[in-house]
Amino acid sequence: MTHWPEDYTAPWTLATDTERAGVGLHSGSEARVRLHPTDQPGFHMRLPGSAEAIQLRPDQVRDSQLCTTLDLGPQTVSTVEHLLAALAGCGLSHVEIELSGSEVPLLDGSALGWVEAIAEAGLTPAATERLPQPVLRESMVRCRGASVITATPAERFSLVGIIDFPQAAIGRQQFALELTPQRFVDEIAPARTFGFRDQVEQLRAAGLIQGGALDNALVCDGDQWMNPPLRFADEPVRHKLLDLIGDLALVGFPQAQVLVYRGSHGLHTDLAAAL
Ligand SMILES: [Zn+2]
Repeated sequence: MTHWPEDYTAPWTLATDTERAGVGLHSGSEARVRLHPTDQPGFHMRLPGSAEAIQLRPDQVRDSQLCTTLDLGPQTVSTVEHLLAALAGCGLSHVEIELSGSEVPLLDGSALGWVEAIAEAGLTPAATERLPQPVLRESMVRCRGASVITATPAERFSLVGIIDFPQAAIGRQQFALELTPQRFVDEIAPARTFGFRDQVEQLRAAGLIQGGALDNALVCDGDQWMNPPLRFADEPVRHKLLDLIGDLALVGFPQAQVLVYRGSHGLHTDLAAAL
């Protein structure tokens, strides 16, 4: 069993290389990611055919219709959010990501495959300090329509997620936790992304989500799920927190309590910008 770091203060890299491959959500063809240890602080990406790794920064993040995309100049890379959530959530601070193809494999729609890959490699102390963590000096509130995000300075990084859907299978759910690598691995990483039956059919008809199917998302059809069982009764709200962690991975985790009501990538980006 992997011994995960206590918290997010010490610098950690991988003990050795590790990789995962799978279908890409958009292209439907195989995508592969190999993770390498590095002495350079932060997360870095090496594109196919390039010898040099690019340091990942928050200003490269683009919110696309279905996922988070990184604009790395020569190439955009899509579906990065669950991989970045896994790296940061597990406590890693120094990793090089070697990409084959144009997107990161979606695996089962959660971060579990990445956590398992990281556990296979193991963690080891990194040679240099972490990038500085963001500091929140005062409370902030941002709204977008009926959606709200608030952040309040606190001793530790903690999260509260609330969702409210008209579909009876989801309804109103809330989940709160003080984040540690162990709690991320046990309570957040296995939560899969979710979608709706009519939306999935429209996207597929439009030629998007060639690789998206009942294997890599929970699909809701009103008052029932098309592909049960769920991993947690409140799996959707836990996945929302997974996405928030992914959106904060390049900014760093603040010493704050963050509450998100009906969250979206756009709201998460508002918080990241405030930090
Ligand atoms: Zn997600």
